Amino acid sequence: MVVSTINGTSPLSHSNGTTIPLSTFSRNSFVIVEKGDPVAFRPYWEKVKDECTVEIKGDEWMSYLGDTNNLCWYMVPQMRDAILRLHNVVGNAVTKDKFLVLGTGSSQLYQALLYALSPSESSHRPINVVAAAPYYSEYKDATDILQSRLFQWTGDAALYDKDEPYIEVVTSPNNPDGTLRVPVVNSGVEGKIIYDLAYYWPQYTPITDQLDHDVMVFTFSKCTGHAGSRIGWAFVKDIEVAKKMIRFVQLNSIGVSRESQIRAAKMIGVICDGYKNLKSIESDHLFFDYSKRLMKERWEKFKGAIEKSKVFTLTKYPTSYCHFNKDLSEQYPAFAWLKCLEGIKDGESYLEKLKIRTRGGGRFGVDAKYVRVSMIGTEDEFIELCTRLSNAKRE
Ligand code: PMP
Repeated sequence: MVVSTINGTSPLSHSNGTTIPLSTFSRNSFVIVEKGDPVAFRPYWEKVKDECTVEIKGDEWMSYLGDTNNLCWYMVPQMRDAILRLHNVVGNAVTKDKFLVLGTGSSQLYQALLYALSPSESSHRPINVVAAAPYYSEYKDATDILQSRLFQWTGDAALYDKDEPYIEVVTSPNNPDGTLRVPVVNSGVEGKIIYDLAYYWPQYTPITDQLDHDVMVFTFSKCTGHAGSRIGWAFVKDIEVAKKMIRFVQLNSIGVSRESQIRAAKMIGVICDGYKNLKSIESDHLFFDYSKRLMKERWEKFKGAIEKSKVFTLTKYPTSYCHFNKDLSEQYPAFAWLKCLEGIKDGESYLEKLKIRTRGGGRFGVDAKYVRVSMIGTEDEFIELCTRLSNAKRE
């Protein structure tokens, strides 16, 4: 049986004439909430799609270069201006006196940063890379895939006690558990810190501070949901670090797709214009208002399902004042982090039997009784997830 699509949204039509049904989900198939594909916000973009249309003619954006006057020479001025404007509207980061480095997703910038922050003298041992568990599951593989002589994954930052150089990745709000984080390494040596702020946007968490760290990484993927554009950016204080990152991006992909930059700049412009014209626009047309409401509704429904199941417990989040929304608000993370109650040792296998595919604690450096569940998938998948979870019974 095919469950109908969500909120009256229609199948995904591409301008080349192909149509992809939004969901082919059936009760007999798996609910796949294992990955964090941020498609939840699609109904918003469908509503404003005409304002967001970008036309690129055959003779446009052909060069490798974006702006030869900028240190980040492959970034087009429209992209730079849009990113600065977005942070100015949201107030989540201090951008003044920092270098802006663009990447093909923040994943590329993670590797660029490991390269840029590692000691360059060949006599050095690989620098240790750590993050407090539970940590984002891709850091380990992204660090070790090339078996670099510059850096190596060393695991849980909370257990790191060597008096050796290190890079600590601080993800706040954290993937997978949504908690707000600060550095935790206790070492006699001063480390270098990468702040991964992929989820520091108003739909997921109150914007409590305008962050002002030496290295701050953001991604378009989790901000607007356009993960396929592959746009990420970093604000970097030290010009030498920025230069090395840009060199890495040059050798890795000779810059970032100019078509993607133009589209991302347009989307960001639509969001910012909405907040500029506050009085003449309905709140449903304001992206962060819409997306926060959606996340809040999902979390309320999800909490109800978890309570009914009596099989799991959820992380508790504080309420804080959001300077962007000008209200007291809870967090509504992009992932739910479930802990199985006594008797269930492996949450991922347990949920697999209920035809729910999740990512188990082991991938995040913790016990298998934890599982991560995406809260940002399609609506019909999410509804089915809640139905199946609320019917879960203890073994
Ligand atoms: N950091 C974190 C914490 C993430 O969750 C993700 C995406 N899942 C990324 C980085 C990578 O994002 P992207 O490469 O799409 O910018």
